[in-house]
Amino acid sequence: MNPPLLRLLALTMTAAHAAAGCGADTSEPSAGEDKPAVVASFYPLVFASEGVGGDLVEVENLTAPGIEPHDLELSADQVRSLSDADLILYLGGGFQPALEDVVSGLDESRALDVLEGRGFLESAESESHEGEEEDHESTADPHVWLDPTIMAEIVDQVAVRLSRIDPAHKKVYLDNAAQLDSRLENVDRKFNTVLSHCLTRDIVTSHDAFGYLAARYDLDQVSISGIDPEAEPSPGRLAQVARFVEEHDVGTIFFEELVSPKVAETIAAETGARTEMLSPLESAPPSGDYADAMEANLAALTRALDCD
Ligand SMILES: [Zn+2]
Repeated sequence: MNPPLLRLLALTMTAAHAAAGCGADTSEPSAGEDKPAVVASFYPLVFASEGVGGDLVEVENLTAPGIEPHDLELSADQVRSLSDADLILYLGGGFQPALEDVVSGLDESRALDVLEGRGFLESAESESHEGEEEDHESTADPHVWLDPTIMAEIVDQVAVRLSRIDPAHKKVYLDNAAQLDSRLENVDRKFNTVLSHCLTRDIVTSHDAFGYLAARYDLDQVSISGIDPEAEPSPGRLAQVARFVEEHDVGTIFFEELVSPKVAETIAAETGARTEMLSPLESAPPSGDYADAMEANLAALTRALDCD
């Protein structure tokens, strides 16, 4: 041990405490005490901002764990958090209209719509899936985060914005982003490898969340409900999906954590298919993080599609 060094450390800590305790007279935030406050609208953006910011940022999730993020409603406290935030991360395009309304009234330079300028929604609209004829203009697919390569782009956008807000830690943000990106690239590589050898490519899902995942890995998604998981499928729709399952010999109906599995179970019982969980990652997974949950998704897909 080195007593002088310890004493110096103790002194430094005392000074830091003092600075934290009576900083009212300084207009300049003291280094290290004032972390950028990030408000993220739902889990995938929490994953990106915590992964990039680590201990250097304070992240608030607007969508509580276990709550389905579509059409999120905001509390007064959350509106206050939004107006105090250094960075607001959200996904535009009508996914959470109440949040978009609040953001449009704030200083937009503090907000980052991760879809902005990417043309994601346009490309989603040009790729139509089976059973989507009904409603053309209002069904742009927001579920971009289920393509891990797009998730990596979101991570990079977050790193750029945090570096601008807190330039002293730019290197940490960029390094963290690079690490996260390589995990995501690894997930993408595994999906590509495993899903290239499957007997079938049809996935029947609860709500229309897997369009980007399907497009990335050349799968065909048929969803029981539409883009919004709350929408009750009509009896006609159920019969249509059941017919598809039988005609295409689909062995697995996927359900998800935040939506009742009843509809999936009904179709499974009617057709003799099994049910299995496929996570749309709209809320934090019960264990692990986005990348872990995507690996679990890949395992489920591997079983369902007979891949080897
Ligand atoms: Zn969704």
